[in-house]
Amino acid sequence: MRVVLTGAAGFLGSNLCDLLLDRGDSVVAVDNLCTGSMANIGHLAGRDGFAFQRQDVSNFVHVAGPVDAVMHLASPASPKDYLEMPIQTLKVGSLGTHNTLGLAKDKGARYFLASTSEVYGDPQVHPQTESYWGHVNPIGPRGVYDEAKRFAEAMTMAYHRAEGLDVRISRTFNTYGPRMRPGDGRVVSNLIVQALAGTPLTIYGDGSQTRSFCYVDDQVRGLVALLDSHHVGPVNIGNPDEFTVLELAEAVLDVTGSTSEIVFEALPVDDPTQRCPDISLAASVLGWKPDVALREGLERTIAWFAAHA
Ligand code: UDP
Repeated sequence: MRVVLTGAAGFLGSNLCDLLLDRGDSVVAVDNLCTGSMANIGHLAGRDGFAFQRQDVSNFVHVAGPVDAVMHLASPASPKDYLEMPIQTLKVGSLGTHNTLGLAKDKGARYFLASTSEVYGDPQVHPQTESYWGHVNPIGPRGVYDEAKRFAEAMTMAYHRAEGLDVRISRTFNTYGPRMRPGDGRVVSNLIVQALAGTPLTIYGDGSQTRSFCYVDDQVRGLVALLDSHHVGPVNIGNPDEFTVLELAEAVLDVTGSTSEIVFEALPVDDPTQRCPDISLAASVLGWKPDVALREGLERTIAWFAAHA
């Protein structure tokens, strides 16, 4: 397949590039580098089947030649990033989704929208199944990401229903691993950077809020399984092992052997109190489940951060 992948220079996008190229697909990697980095895809330069196009997909997207699939991952994706770039985030989720849907329609390609567990907001149903409609504050600070992705899902389904476009929608839950940006503000990267530097580990709130952390190799394998499947989705892709943020901090201290202390800071506005995917749908329609447990994933991620610090 020839795949156009937006957000290809980001954490998830670059890991997905590797997987697609390794299985013999060619990739047109598109990124405006607002949060992505050429360092994530530098090793792919000159590789057969790989091309890079620097472009903001919130503007008209042109890709020459035939295309079999368009995968739309581009967006600021960490709370820190989307709070700093609220308008760009809304634009890439809305205009960027519209433009990339138009590209897929023009090329007769399959369309893949990378959506998010943030469509569930601060969920009142636990664990979250795909049939849950969510609990999002549209005018809160996180609304810029949550509502952009909700709009993106609605737009994707409209192209599917009205234009007959072949579409897939994933909902990615918290994912971590090599190539996370050290300054992206996410909990896993923050805690690892702090533990390695011997500075205090910052926990927002009392640390009792939960997240379920998926290792990046499992995540991109799930996304490709959905791309290859006949299931429109949305399908949750995440690891259902749920931890409090305090438990995560203790695991990071344990794996790094760091003597950093833990400090408690203010909880961000609308921070979800719990999050855990129900992945029965992914198991039944994709035959997919994550393989990497938190401890093993942390070991690999910490080794990468230590080597790249
Ligand atoms: N968090 C934290 N310390 C940090 C960064 C984040 O305690 O240094 C918390 C944050 O408030 C949230 C959880 O960790 O409850 C996960 O945050 P992240 O930014 O990774 O992603 P989210 O799941 O909120 O989108």
